[in-house]
Amino acid sequence: MRAMWINGKYVFAEAEPYPALNPATEEVVGESTWGSEEHVETAVAAAKTAFSDWRRMPAAERAGLLHAVARRLRQHLEEIAVELTLETGRSIRKNRGYVEWSAQCFDYYAELARHYRGRLIPSPESSQLSVVLKVPLGVVGAIVPWNYPLLLLTWKLAPALAAGNTVVVKPATYTSWVSLGFAKLFEHLPPGVVNLITGSGRTVGERLVTHPDVRMIAFTGSTEVGQRIMRLAADDVKHVHLELGGKDPLIVCRDADLDAAAQASVWAGFLNAGQVCTSVERVYVDREVYSPFLDRVLEITCRLVVGPGSDPESEVTPMIRIEERDKVDAQVRQAESAGADVLLGGRVPPDKKKGYYYEPTVVTGLTEEMAVMREETFGPVLPVAPVSGFEEALARSNKSHYGLGATLFTTDARKVKQYMEEIEAGNVWVNDPLIDNVAGPFGGMKRSGLGRELGLEGLEDFLETKHIHWEIEGGRKPWWYPWT
Ligand code: NAD
Repeated sequence: MRAMWINGKYVFAEAEPYPALNPATEEVVGESTWGSEEHVETAVAAAKTAFSDWRRMPAAERAGLLHAVARRLRQHLEEIAVELTLETGRSIRKNRGYVEWSAQCFDYYAELARHYRGRLIPSPESSQLSVVLKVPLGVVGAIVPWNYPLLLLTWKLAPALAAGNTVVVKPATYTSWVSLGFAKLFEHLPPGVVNLITGSGRTVGERLVTHPDVRMIAFTGSTEVGQRIMRLAADDVKHVHLELGGKDPLIVCRDADLDAAAQASVWAGFLNAGQVCTSVERVYVDREVYSPFLDRVLEITCRLVVGPGSDPESEVTPMIRIEERDKVDAQVRQAESAGADVLLGGRVPPDKKKGYYYEPTVVTGLTEEMAVMREETFGPVLPVAPVSGFEEALARSNKSHYGLGATLFTTDARKVKQYMEEIEAGNVWVNDPLIDNVAGPFGGMKRSGLGRELGLEGLEDFLETKHIHWEIEGGRKPWWYPWT
């Protein structure tokens, strides 16, 4: 059984442990100790105590400790990748890449934070200095979803620590086991700087959100839970950083490279069984090229290899749980009964007797009212709809509560310019969906979130800003009392 990591020690709870399930086989692969609100108290107290030394540590020294986290990630790369595949079901091939990328994120913020402390601005008085000082917030609560347990944790943890904060992490229930295994990456840090606790969102998660000593909640997860966290955080006017759901559109213009657009749509729709926050969940195709595009999409999709993430050849891996698969299937069935055509998939693969697999599914004949075109699906479903042209596609893309990611396939620079400015999404891709860059900001507009991760913006969000007006020469000012 895996323990929590609190104040530099491994801690077991008294409650029944939580089992880790392999989504490809439905077998139990491990157990995590199951925390309670009491563990939130001890973890937050430890993080609060650790904060005073951690914030004062010279930036270069702190950077050295964060580079050491990156080194540990690389040392344990294979073991972590295998465990991520065991508990999330996703491809081992991708998981190896994500461990390396997480290491790069620690290296990046270790250095960035050494160069950033605010700025000096001209003062209204020649005898004064105006200092814009960036300081850490204090204890940060990081709440992470199950789809990328390491990467999405890293995007919070690396900048939060580099900025001088201490952190209490609550991973998602489904991925508690693999997340507790990350404690070995932080054993060299002073006790209390990083704490990993488990427990349910409703109890442990909410206690973390409402704890008066937690100054910021950095959350990635569903829009519904994000909304609840924002409401709960309002009492203390706590900083909230929210990375939420999406319903990402991809537009294919008549001038696009059709073959590339079809391959990219299939990849971005079915990667990690569609359980990526920026999965392509709506494809709008210019009617002039709709038919050849759809043919190509079907051709590629029917050849995809559906199988366990442990096999590097598997292209579409299982979903995380049967409940999640049922939700996806319900959306497909609802669309079908409202007149949509399920051209491929829409079922559990007949040869998969175990595991939470769902066949890669292509749906057409859609209306914007169908849930599959409006609500986040978070599964391997690609709805494809014809449009009269770029303008209609752009308008339909923006007609959504969400605004996380969006992709345009075109060779026309004028369309790109208009798209860059008018698409309502925080992450915009042109001719290459889902590519990420640790040095550039990631995040959503509208109900997809608040704040940005990665890049300089990702560091800024974990810092408080102070403006210091420093009178150096001293003495009485003529505008003070008495006026005579
Ligand atoms: P979720 O919202 O159910 O849970 C996310 C985390 O919040 C988990 O750790 C959970 O235990 C915790 N939680 C649940 N209820 C809580 C509460 N009341 N108070 C505090 N914490 C609570 O999301 P999920 O099912 O784990 O992940 C899938 C969702 O995450 C999808 O909607 C997806 O789009 C979103 N997501 C967004 C991004 C992004 O960067 N925008 C990235 C990945 C996933």
